[in-house]
Amino acid sequence: MMVIAAPGEMTRYSSAALHRGERIGLVPTMGYLHEGHLTLMREGRRRCSVLVASIFVNPTQFGPGEDLAHYPRNFERDCAMLRAVPVDVVFAPEPAAMYAPDAQTWVDAGEITRGLCGAHRPGHFRGVTTVVAKLFNIVKPHLAVFGEKDFQQLRAIQRMVHDLNFDVEIVPVPIVREKDGLAMSSRNAYLSSAEREDALALSLALRAAQEEHRTGARCAEEIVLAATGVIARHKGVAIEYVEAVDAETLAPHPSLDRPILLAIAARVGKTRLIDNAVLEPQPCARPEGEGHPDATNRRRV
Ligand code: AMP
Repeated sequence: MMVIAAPGEMTRYSSAALHRGERIGLVPTMGYLHEGHLTLMREGRRRCSVLVASIFVNPTQFGPGEDLAHYPRNFERDCAMLRAVPVDVVFAPEPAAMYAPDAQTWVDAGEITRGLCGAHRPGHFRGVTTVVAKLFNIVKPHLAVFGEKDFQQLRAIQRMVHDLNFDVEIVPVPIVREKDGLAMSSRNAYLSSAEREDALALSLALRAAQEEHRTGARCAEEIVLAATGVIARHKGVAIEYVEAVDAETLAPHPSLDRPILLAIAARVGKTRLIDNAVLEPQPCARPEGEGHPDATNRRRV
C-alpha cells in the first residue's frame, strides 16, 4: 500500500493507472476509521482494480467553533486497517497542499444543501462539495463510494456530479450500525459511557418512526412526532432537528406515496450526532382508487 501526500503525485499515479486500463475507485474519508468506513472500502474493492482511500480532515467543511482542532485522528491505525482491506493507495494531503492561500473557487450544490444539516452548519456542504470536486480531479476515479449515514452529503454530491458532468459513478452504501443500533461514527469516540447510552435515543427514535409509518401514519408530521417523543424521554439528548423530507429531493412536506427520509441531528453532551432512515411507501397507506406503487420504479436509496 502506497501513502501519497502530494496531489501532483496522486494525479501522476492515477494517470499511469488509467493508461494501463485500470478501473479506479475512491473512498473519501476524514480518517479515524471504523467498520462503516471499511464497508465502503470493501464495496470499492469489489468494483475496482485500483482502490484509493483518501484521509483528509477538510478544514473548509468545519464552521467556527466546530471540532476541527479536536477531530479524532490515528493515521497509523487507519493505515493498518486499510492495508487489511486491501487498499492500494492512501491519499493523505496536508491542508496547505489542498488549498492555496489565494484560492477563490467554491462548488455549491444549491437548494438540496439548504435544509437539514445545511440550515445548522452554514457553509458546511459548500466545503464538502468543493473538496470532493478537488478529490475527483486529483484522483480521477471511475467511481466513488459514499455512506448513507451522511445522506444529505450523498444527495449533494449526486447533484454536483449530475450538474457539473463529472464522469464518476456514485455508489451509495447503507448505514453500518453497532449491534445495539447506534450508527457508527468517528465522533462516537467523544462519548462517555453515560452519553453512549443516551446516544441510542437516535436509532430508537428512527425505529419508532418506522413503526408509525408501517402501521398507517396519515402524514409525515405523525412520523416526526413518534421520533421526537422517543428522544424527549432521554434527558441527555438535545434535538437539533427531526425532519421528514422527500428522500430524493430533500424537499419538506413529503408525500407518503414516495420514499421519505427521516433525518435526525442531536447533541449528546457536546457531541453532535446524526442518523437517518429511508421509509419506503406502504402499499396499504395509498388512497383508494390508486394502483399499487410499481416496484420497478422505486429507487432504493
Ligand atoms: P467521514 O470520515 O465521517 O467523513 O466518512 C467518510 C465516509 O464514510 C462518508 O461517505 C460517510 O457517509 C461514510 N460513513 C461514515 N460512517 C458510516 C456508517 N456508519 N455507515 C456507512 N457509511 C458511513
